[in-house]
Amino acid sequence: MYVRHDLSGSTSYFKRASRHLARGVSSGIRAEQLPVPVAFSRGSGSALWDVDGNRYVDYALAYGPLILGHSPDALVAAVSEQLRRGSTFGANHPLEAELAEAICRTVPSAEMCAFSSTGTEAVQVALRIARAATGRRKVIKFLGHYHGWIDNVNLASYGETGPAPGSGGQDPAAMSSTVVCDWNDIGSLRSALDGDVAAVLMEPVNVDGGCLHATDEYLRAAAALVRHNGSVLIFDEVITGYRVSLGGAQEKLGVQPDLTVLGKALGGGFPISAVAGRADIMAVVADARVAHAGTYNGSAVAVAAALAVITELERIAPEVYHRLDKLIGRLAGILEETTKGTRVPLAVRRDTGVGHAFAGVTTVERYADTLEADIELYRRFTADLLAHGIHLMPKGILYVSTAHTDADLDFTADAIEAAVRRYR
Ligand code: PLP
Repeated sequence: MYVRHDLSGSTSYFKRASRHLARGVSSGIRAEQLPVPVAFSRGSGSALWDVDGNRYVDYALAYGPLILGHSPDALVAAVSEQLRRGSTFGANHPLEAELAEAICRTVPSAEMCAFSSTGTEAVQVALRIARAATGRRKVIKFLGHYHGWIDNVNLASYGETGPAPGSGGQDPAAMSSTVVCDWNDIGSLRSALDGDVAAVLMEPVNVDGGCLHATDEYLRAAAALVRHNGSVLIFDEVITGYRVSLGGAQEKLGVQPDLTVLGKALGGGFPISAVAGRADIMAVVADARVAHAGTYNGSAVAVAAALAVITELERIAPEVYHRLDKLIGRLAGILEETTKGTRVPLAVRRDTGVGHAFAGVTTVERYADTLEADIELYRRFTADLLAHGIHLMPKGILYVSTAHTDADLDFTADAIEAAVRRYR
């Protein structure tokens, strides 16, 4: 049994939700939490409380957006103020331009922005822009990189027969213009590039696949090849944007894309995403060759939230990123050291403020290594940690926020030590 604390409230909530809410959750992966999807009633800073009154140190952070933690003062103030003035207008309001300016000030390659609500949507906007700007059709993506749940990018695997749909109900035809390459393999990219490739889409740090870093030489060579081919280089910085540094992975790695997709941390917990990039490419939106639509695009409350996030991060950068680096380093160290030699050995890869843990392996260097990891073992271990007051995503990615403290890490070290005992 994994349950050492009372989850009866979450359990009965899940039963109730399952009667009229498909799968009992609002996003499929949440149903994978063991022993039951926890229902939370409150979050503050680095902590969460569930409906049974249990407290957790939160390293899931709503799957990434909560870079400032739960309900930070700066965000609450900005959003409350905006709510009093109006939540959304479906029309221009002054904060939009201010946010576009803030993004162009902080993200090195950004000259012009377009807003959407989710990362998935903004990826599609970026692909449409790339196709319209180049007059080409194909999109290259990389094995293990995640770009949302839409049919043309949500791939389960690929092999001799080409990409396979990641979900039932997907239209296989939507993948007919998607080409999948191996990450950090310049030969794979070179052989896939041709005169019909509109865009090359990548997570500059492949956090979803395992926090897998490409070499500097690879990224520079890839960027040069893509440009030489006349294709648009798109960095999906939905995870890394405002997280690994103020200017995202592109600032940290010193490689600039043509277009950047932002989401998650940008809104600090409010649904807002953006495509930001070169003005000459974004011109296809500016001159209306590309239709960019959405009832909630630039919603006033979400824009106010994003402005509050960037303003706060600008105020506390760059020191805050050293802190996020230290915090994730300590978390990774605790997880690896405490589990060494047990039946649940963990390997953690990391970048600033984010990591990816794998169970049943001692080292992960490349995508193939991640396939050796024991996903079920990791899920069961997250259930053990839940019982000791630690909340992790069941799927390996770890996040820390500016609200996490050394005391949280001390608590976490004790909790992991206690949870690991049954695996010795
Ligand atoms: N791109 C990346 C790199 C992501 O990690 C995600 C979500 O996890 C997305 C895109 C999709 O974003 P959203 O879930 O907001 O649609």
